[in-house]
Amino acid sequence: MSTVTYNAIGYAAQNAKAPLAPMQFNRRAPRPDDVSIEVLYCGVCHSDIHQARNDWGFATYPLMPGHEIVGKVTAIGSNVTKHKVGDLVGVGCMVDSCRTCSACKEDLEQYCLEGMTQTYASPDRIDGTLTMGGYSSNMVVSEHFVLSIPKNLDPASAAPLLCAGITTFSPLQHYGVEPGDKVGILGMGGLGHMGIKFAKAMGAEVTLFTRSQAKAEEAYRQGADHVIVSTDPEQMKAAAGSFNFLLDTIPVPHDLNPYLETLAFDGVHILVGLIEPVEPALNAFNLVFKRRVLAGSLIGGIAETQEMLDFSAEHGITCDIEMLDIKNINEAFERVVKGDVKYRFVIDMKTLKA
Ligand code: NDP
Ligand code: ZN
Repeated sequence: MSTVTYNAIGYAAQNAKAPLAPMQFNRRAPRPDDVSIEVLYCGVCHSDIHQARNDWGFATYPLMPGHEIVGKVTAIGSNVTKHKVGDLVGVGCMVDSCRTCSACKEDLEQYCLEGMTQTYASPDRIDGTLTMGGYSSNMVVSEHFVLSIPKNLDPASAAPLLCAGITTFSPLQHYGVEPGDKVGILGMGGLGHMGIKFAKAMGAEVTLFTRSQAKAEEAYRQGADHVIVSTDPEQMKAAAGSFNFLLDTIPVPHDLNPYLETLAFDGVHILVGLIEPVEPALNAFNLVFKRRVLAGSLIGGIAETQEMLDFSAEHGITCDIEMLDIKNINEAFERVVKGDVKYRFVIDMKTLKA
């Protein structure tokens, strides 16, 4: 008779067509620099769906998503100094990097020249096993990649800061958004609504570009000063030449040209939602004649993620969430794809025990 025991359980997809289902597995034995974490909450990012369904073509299975993790430290390795047992901590999209390349040395681990180790579906740098994300009972993560959650943040609504938060904070900060700048946020989902909050807290005049007029009221509540319905060509035309920055969170290929036309000269259009080819084609005229910049940005480094958490605590910023029983994760995926969530599902990991 088999007597295999496992030290972790979570929800994973076994292939691109399969729904997520419970899976038992083993987390590694903690190394001297590791922090063991009991997962309390995990946000549901649109990337989790892209990856579970292999939309981007580089998924590996079994795939256990989850990279917006808040939990409690249950044990620490002998070399750990940053965290102690009982601390409330966070884990985002990365759990390791080479730590020696020029990007890592500049605290930009997400751009590690050897490639970062992602929180799920990445081979561990030491033992080669596949990383498993936060839709699970517990995690084992090297302390450098474990964040401190400030005490005055609600732990459940802080979880999505670890991805949706840092992904929107980092480019706004990198491009130096400051009071008086006109910032447009494209799409109001998990990332977009955080983009509105951060841009507003940085002092910008913020406009939401959304497909639905119905979201206007909500956008103002989030702090937007203006709303443009992107499907109305008249409203798009009226905004020509007015923005300094556009933060584009739209998760599917879309026509960039009408948005570029809303940028002032030297304006920057920052892509965070799209990693597929741009369709329809970009008209380079829209860049060249106004010295506009089309840019991309990937999450943020660990030091900057801590800075974002502290900034959020200082400004009282968290995510608007809907708590989720993990049994309903597959329905939740469908609702995210339909845009039917305000604005992030967060799994209450207690429901995993039930
Ligand atoms: P959501 O689904 O929560 O939000 C996306 C928003 O985009 C929607 O709310 C909607 O806003 C708009 N949108 C959706 N479909 C369309 C469409 N067909 N045409 C135009 N607009 C659309 O996703 P997330 O915020 O979780 O993630 C957004 C994207 O960012 C995903 O692709 C995700 O993978 C990516 N991502 C990138 C990261 C990075 O580091 N660069 C990190 C994390 C995520 P509205 O209804 O207002 O129009
Ligand atoms: Zn994410």
